[in-house]
Amino acid sequence: MVFRDSARIVCPESLATYDFEQWLEVPPARPDLSIRSPSICIAAPEVILLQQYDRVPCHEAPFTRRNLFLRDDFTCQYCGRKRPSDHLSVDHVVPRSRGGTTSWENCVLACVSCNARKADRNLKEAGLHLLRQPIRPRWTPYLNLRPSQRMDSWARFTPESRRKTASNF
Ligand SMILES: [Zn+2]
Repeated sequence: MVFRDSARIVCPESLATYDFEQWLEVPPARPDLSIRSPSICIAAPEVILLQQYDRVPCHEAPFTRRNLFLRDDFTCQYCGRKRPSDHLSVDHVVPRSRGGTTSWENCVLACVSCNARKADRNLKEAGLHLLRQPIRPRWTPYLNLRPSQRMDSWARFTPESRRKTASNF
């Protein structure tokens, strides 16, 4: 993006901005944060500024088994017990045999015993209650990063509340 001039690199300390040619002149301060080729070594950008601001990208989390385990935090949504992944299964709240879809809104994690108890019935018939309503999570790429993957220099540019939210993941 910087090379195509769609973005400028921002120095997190001085807030000075650089285009690609200017950035080549900046000596890399940290060897572990540099990009090397046989002929050049440039500092890896930590913060960039988009030349044209559209919106913060907010990609919806794809519906996958792994993401469902993350959303439900390896917890049976009926009895609330946290279980290792091989003791949990994906349960269709409205059974597939009754037209229930395989979707964020109709799938939850259930432990083996709760899944067996529910069987091919709906919640009312099985006398079961969900801990919380299953919803499609809204995860941004930023929220998907673990705290250890975030750079210290980003702290100036992200609101405190968002950092707190992000640390829950
Ligand atoms: Zn359970």
